[in-house]
Amino acid sequence: MTPEDAADRTRALTVPCSYCHAMPGELCVRKGTTDTLVNPAAHLARLNDAGITHAPLDTRELRRG
Ligand SMILES: [Zn+2]
Repeated sequence: MTPEDAADRTRALTVPCSYCHAMPGELCVRKGTTDTLVNPAAHLARLNDAGITHAPLDTRELRRG
């Protein structure tokens, strides 16, 4: 896990996950299991909810500059 991943996970843990329904402070789990998610650090929906964005998510971004 990179420092960036660790920072993302710390921030993601401040909000609940709308995908696997992990509560704030709890790690995401693989749906239907009790296995915690390691890579990625949290579900994309949760990262988004936490305000974390990893560009480029939009193909238009690829053509910029
Ligand atoms: Zn999750």
